[in-house]
Amino acid sequence: MSNPKAYAELTTLIKRAHALGTVGELLGWDEQVNLPPGAGEQRAQQQAALAEAAHAAASDARIGGALATLEADAAGLSDDQRVVAKHARKDYDRATKLPAEFVREKAAQDSRGYHAWAKARAADDFGGYAPVLAKNLELATREAGYLGWGGREYDYMVDKHDPGMTAAVIGRLFGELKRELVPLVREIAASKVKPRDDALRGFSTEGQRQFLREVTERLGFDYNRGRIDVSLHPFCSGTGSDVRMTTRLKEQEPLDSLFSSIHETGHGMYEQGLRADELGTPLGQNAGMAVHESQSRLWENQVARSRGFWRHFEPRLRELFPTQTAGVSTDELYLAINAVHPTLIRVDADEVTYNLHIILRFELEKKLFTGELAVADLPAAWRASAQELLGLTPPNDREGVLQDVHWSGGSFGYFPSYCLGNMLAAQLWYRALALRPALEEDFARGDFTWLLGWLRENIHTQGRRYDALELARRVTGEELSPKSLLRYLRERYGALYLR
Ligand code: ZN
Repeated sequence: MSNPKAYAELTTLIKRAHALGTVGELLGWDEQVNLPPGAGEQRAQQQAALAEAAHAAASDARIGGALATLEADAAGLSDDQRVVAKHARKDYDRATKLPAEFVREKAAQDSRGYHAWAKARAADDFGGYAPVLAKNLELATREAGYLGWGGREYDYMVDKHDPGMTAAVIGRLFGELKRELVPLVREIAASKVKPRDDALRGFSTEGQRQFLREVTERLGFDYNRGRIDVSLHPFCSGTGSDVRMTTRLKEQEPLDSLFSSIHETGHGMYEQGLRADELGTPLGQNAGMAVHESQSRLWENQVARSRGFWRHFEPRLRELFPTQTAGVSTDELYLAINAVHPTLIRVDADEVTYNLHIILRFELEKKLFTGELAVADLPAAWRASAQELLGLTPPNDREGVLQDVHWSGGSFGYFPSYCLGNMLAAQLWYRALALRPALEEDFARGDFTWLLGWLRENIHTQGRRYDALELARRVTGEELSPKSLLRYLRERYGALYLR
């Protein structure tokens, strides 16, 4: 018989800590969407005060007490309670095992790191950034040590974003993917079929807003429990019944805003699909970044770049933009939607090439942690790797090692999630098709309810119960692997470029 009083106390306290965390997210959203330019300093103070309160709530000694009581009688816990206790223990240890002095040092370094990176990138000066990177690596190594991951520092960084994942597993999956993806990208790049770069121009932002609102609502985003606004970089934050997405609108690049909105909608529908009765406990939280990305990528790519999807939405696009689409045939539109152009910049990469950008970053950051690669040698290693994987050599570090913000704030181990998410998305896609072969016929009718319902049941409402590897096994009946992703890329892009 478990201790109901200890369990109730545990969930009350972790829900409170979670609620404070969501307030911080809301302040962050507001900062990027609404904040008056002169309010930056005041907002930084509000954020710092809130972060302190949130940390105090997450490290409340009563959480430790309740956990100890429950763990002493673990056999008495139900399955659900065991999931909650297991993850609450992990969160509690992360909140309490870092010395206060270290937390202060890291916070100061994160903010310094961001500014040093922005400056170095603008000046194309890796030398100015190298000491920051070295310091961030040292802090990451110390953090792993405090939490008992000494000797497995990079695994710790990976586990922070994707519980249960390890560098060895990722290395094997990425190796298999790389072998077949590099030649596929070369073949497509050499294809005589070229999308028209100038096909879609002059789309009013008002019309784009209207179209993306109709699309995302039809896919299943609940605007009664979320909203979409404009920010410099699109993102999605919030959870449960208050999900905040953003997009950006460019008149000359209507597909950019549409597809980034659909991507964020995938994230948003995942958060909206979590169990409301468990909001703030591990049963009502997402399962990590790879699973999150699998949801955004599935809707953005497998669904919204399909013929079925466009059979439904193309007439509406032409109705809203009659002059802009007049000279563009259905096939030209579809090719523009599925354009492939190898590029040096990750955030501009198409769906096929994108994975190679991630493999590059994973291989380098792993070597930084094992000591096989010194920070000073990073720019040269980046150039060599870009040539090997993408067939392109960056002419400067701005288009090479200085392009991403992640490492400046110590976010190592984050990049692999994107590619793991792509693998899981493709695997889920083929499983969904096996269960419902006429899925694209649903899309052509504007009906996305079966797919969303299936994801709700198998992924969203499971919370943190299963990690990405276990989820893949349970939902698709197969181990996570790049096989489905390669099959999908060959089927969709082979049909367009390699006829
Ligand atoms: Zn995403």
